[in-house]
Amino acid sequence: MTTTEKNTAADREVTGASIRLDGVEKLYKGQSEPAVASLDLDIEAGHIVAFVGPSGCGKTTTLKMINRLIEPTAGKIYIADRDVTGVNPDKLRQQIGYVIQSGGLFPHWTVERNVGAIPRLLGWDKQKIAERTRELLELVGLDPDEFGKRLPKDMSGGQQQRVGVARALAADPPVLLMDEPFSAVDPITRVRLQDSLIDIHHKLGKTIVIVTHDFEEATKLGDKVCIFSKGGHIEQYATPAEILANPATDFVKEFIGSGATLAQLSLTRVRDVELQPVVTATVGEPSKDVIARAKAAKDKWVVVVDRKGHPRAWPSVKEIGTVPEISSYSDPRLPVVAPSSTLQDALDAMLSASQGGALVVDGRNTVQGWLRMADVTDIIRGQLDDAQPDEQGYTEFAEAEHGGDAS
Ligand code: ADP
Ligand code: MG
Repeated sequence: MTTTEKNTAADREVTGASIRLDGVEKLYKGQSEPAVASLDLDIEAGHIVAFVGPSGCGKTTTLKMINRLIEPTAGKIYIADRDVTGVNPDKLRQQIGYVIQSGGLFPHWTVERNVGAIPRLLGWDKQKIAERTRELLELVGLDPDEFGKRLPKDMSGGQQQRVGVARALAADPPVLLMDEPFSAVDPITRVRLQDSLIDIHHKLGKTIVIVTHDFEEATKLGDKVCIFSKGGHIEQYATPAEILANPATDFVKEFIGSGATLAQLSLTRVRDVELQPVVTATVGEPSKDVIARAKAAKDKWVVVVDRKGHPRAWPSVKEIGTVPEISSYSDPRLPVVAPSSTLQDALDAMLSASQGGALVVDGRNTVQGWLRMADVTDIIRGQLDDAQPDEQGYTEFAEAEHGGDAS
């Protein structure tokens, strides 16, 4: 297996604060059993921790006790070693970003107004709020000029979630809490939002706690994953690699299930795999020049880019030969992944586009090369050789796809 490059805290600046739960309990009124019973948990400053577990196990309750949207029945919560169980909850929430599934934007407010909500509450001056809003929209990948004045209803679900993240980060809180933030968007958008979150985390070094019911998402995002069972009971709290290698309990074994081998794929990143070079062609260029370049590079495929270098299509040299110049056609199904994408994401992108490879773009959407499906399947095969010999299904899958070509 190639080296596993999680975004370890060692190589990034930490601006986040630690979080500590000490004997925290929540008994809802009228319930006989606590939703969360005596929970102890330490979250390191600057880490991403993913809470995962079946529905009703107490993930949301735990998250909301951290920002006191729900008051604990017992126990203490410390942020940066400060007991926050007694502080004014409104003040506390101004220092903790919070993102929920549906974005939670104010529907009648423009994007700008939504993002500036907390800074306005804090009494920042207009100029500073405007600058901060632009900076944040850029950070989450939205053009401030294009989106600033829009209403949430005029944006896609994924774009609204990006605004939700920008708004949560507006006052530069050390802690960001996210409750299933990406579960209502389509799978491709979801991967993009996950990649953006990893990128943002890398840049800002906040402490992030994210609730998900998806173990794969947890392993992709989490420096550590906390697997809960009913009553907020911690079954295992460890790095994804540790959990996959040594599930602590039968509950964990069952929870990660037969997907564990494929989950290994979510520990390997596109940047860990050697990329193939690409020949690029700009929209409007004479086809014969491009064909000559492709021939010289012994390449059968050409990546068409616009003037900013963003990829639009991935035609064969043969196809290009049928027209005098490179067309501006934009392929809506172009499989594109980021260096931080997991091999699982890359494989999904290839399969949903029915292509034998995926283009890899950097943070500016500039093409860096392409990833061959054959290289991904080789890695799956390598992992299978290391794993239990009884995962027949995946071996057959790898065989069937091996040698796939980019077509
Ligand atoms: P999860 O987020 O893991 O799905 P929750 O924290 O939402 O779980 O819920 C944990 C348990 O607490 C569940 O049994 C749920 O029914 C119960 N619960 C959640 N909110 C309330 C509430 N406001 N009143 C009573 N019971 C609640
Ligand atoms: Mg929940």
